[in-house]
Formats: sequence, structure tokens, C-alpha cells
Amino acid sequence: MNIKKLVKPNIQSLRAYQAEEIPCSVKLDANESPYGRKILKSVWTNRYPDPEAKELRKHLAKDLKVKHENLLHGNGSDELISCLIMTFGGPVLYPVPTFSMYGIIAQALNEKTIEIPLDKNFDLDSREFVKVIEKRNPKLIFLSSPNNPTGNCFSEERILKIIRQSKGIVVVDEAYQPFSEKKSFVPLIKKYDNLVVLRTLSKIGLAGLRVGFMAAGSNIINEVNKVRLPFNLNSLSQKVAFDALQDKKQMKSGIASIVSERKKLLKELKKMSGIDPCHSDANFILFRVDDGDSIYGKLLEKGILIRNMKGVAEGCLRVTIGTARENNAFIKSLKQVL
Ligand code: PMP
Repeated sequence: MNIKKLVKPNIQSLRAYQAEEIPCSVKLDANESPYGRKILKSVWTNRYPDPEAKELRKHLAKDLKVKHENLLHGNGSDELISCLIMTFGGPVLYPVPTFSMYGIIAQALNEKTIEIPLDKNFDLDSREFVKVIEKRNPKLIFLSSPNNPTGNCFSEERILKIIRQSKGIVVVDEAYQPFSEKKSFVPLIKKYDNLVVLRTLSKIGLAGLRVGFMAAGSNIINEVNKVRLPFNLNSLSQKVAFDALQDKKQMKSGIASIVSERKKLLKELKKMSGIDPCHSDANFILFRVDDGDSIYGKLLEKGILIRNMKGVAEGCLRVTIGTARENNAFIKSLKQVL
């Protein structure tokens, strides 16, 4: 696929901002202050961060078994969604309900959006997707799998069909993949040159750092890199994320606890009458209730905050998996409210 041709004309002719890191003993090139404080080991407040986040990208690349040239870092994956839409433009196609930022950013950037409802199992309506792809030729397709807010992964076959059918870029957003037993799409970036896989560290304990990244062929990475702001990932986040990722055992145990708590919570919710919980491959559970507004409000009166999905998934509430203590408090309050 000719990726360059897919890129918006104003971006095609752009050159990425050059902010090379040149080794030196006296650094007087970037209008920084010479007076700074050393925070953590090796992080100086007066210096700009590494624009390429090389250490972090190399570490992430090793974990994902891709080259670091195939990764681009964002200030959260939110930022990369924005960069992708800036680079390729619309129409932007996505199923609904899904993560709202695809539509919000597309609209903010004045790009057309096309929404296709999920089928009754919250899976992709691949026939409708193929029809729309043929008719409207979307430049970008966003598929969140596991999907927020429904929690399920889409069928692998249907995603692959859409990737093969599309003449534009297909973004598989794997924000919640660490909680799923399904395979990641990251290895497939070698096979499909129109595939982008989005990942984030936000759901595995590092949301405050704002670190997201995308994996894709280098043609796509180079184009999207043109619209990325040079110092989008601050030094502290780069360093703390790098250090945190070294402790694989702790990362894994956090994920395992959430998965086991999810199983427990699902079992409890299934036992309650008037509650219809959905299967989840993510760190949250969507459930249908008779009166979402009232249950949401009563839980909040007890200090339990969950998400009312009114207007997104009608009649549904979404609860994030917390610690065992938090989940027990939620279950106890929900029983009282019902
Ligand atoms: N994708 C999906 C599907 C999400 O649910 C979220 C966060 N709610 C994001 C991306 C954004 O994550 P972040 O910007 O924190 O990396």
C-alpha cells in the first residue's frame, strides 16, 4: 500500500521537527536554563526531555518483539489518536458504542465521522463495515479491542477482514489488551502495512505518567511523527515509566489480581436479580440494569462512584475493577441499593 498517498497533502510535504540529541560537554543550543535540580537519578529539570524517548521505546520494543523504529510515543494514547487523525484525515470510521475520543478528536479536527452500531453480541458488523469501506473509503478505522465500554474483544476474523478490505489505515486500539487472553495484533504490523496498534501504560498502573505508544510499519511511523510535538513526553514520565517497566513481576501481579477480581465480580453480579453483566476481557465490567440513573445515584450517595453509560450504552453502568476491598464495598452497596 502506498502510505504516502494516504497522507493529507499538507502533511505529505511536511518535514518532522529536528530535535536531535547531540553529545557534547557544553550544551548551549536549546534556550534551556543552566540552573536545575536533579530529580530522580539522571533527570534534570532544566533540560528538555529526549524528543525521541529512545530508552523507553527500546525497552517497550524489546517487550513487544518489534524494532524501536516501529514504535512512536505519545502523551497517552489519546495524543496518538489525535496525531493519526491529523496525519490521515477522514472519513474516520468506528463502531458504536466505543471509546468516545475517536469521534471527539475527529470532530474537533473537522473531519467526517462514520459510526456503525455493534451487533447484538457487541461484535463488529463486518458486513456493514465492508459495505461502508467500499462506498465511503474511510482513511482511518478505529477498533478498540477489548472495546471500551462493552469490555469484549472483537472477533479476530472480523478485524482481519476489515484490515484486508480497507484501503485506509486500520487502528486496533489495545488499551485493555493486557487483561485479555486473546492474542495481540502487534506482531501483525509486519504483515499488514495499513495496520496500527495502539497501546498504553495507563491501564497497568501508570496513568498519571501519560505514556502511550503506537506500533506500525516505519512508513506510517515517519508520517505520524511529523505532526507529533517534539517534546511530547516529559523527562519524568520517560524515566519513571522506564524504571517501572523493569519490575515485570510487579506489573504482572497487578494485572493478575485485576483479572482474578474481575472473575469474582462477574460471578457476584450474575447472582443478582435485575443485573445483567457482560463478559469482559478488560479491567471493567459493563452491566445492564432496570434503572441506571437511580442505581448510579444511590451508589454515589454511599460514596461508590461508577460510570453511568447513559447516552452511550443505554440502560448500562460500567464498573472498573479495583482492589478486593473496593470491589467488596461496591458489591455490598449494590446489594443494599437493589
Ligand atoms: N483507548 C481506549 C479504548 C481507552 O479506553 C482509553 C482511556 N480510557 C484510551 C485509549 C486512552 O488512554 P491514554 O490516553 O490514557 O493512554
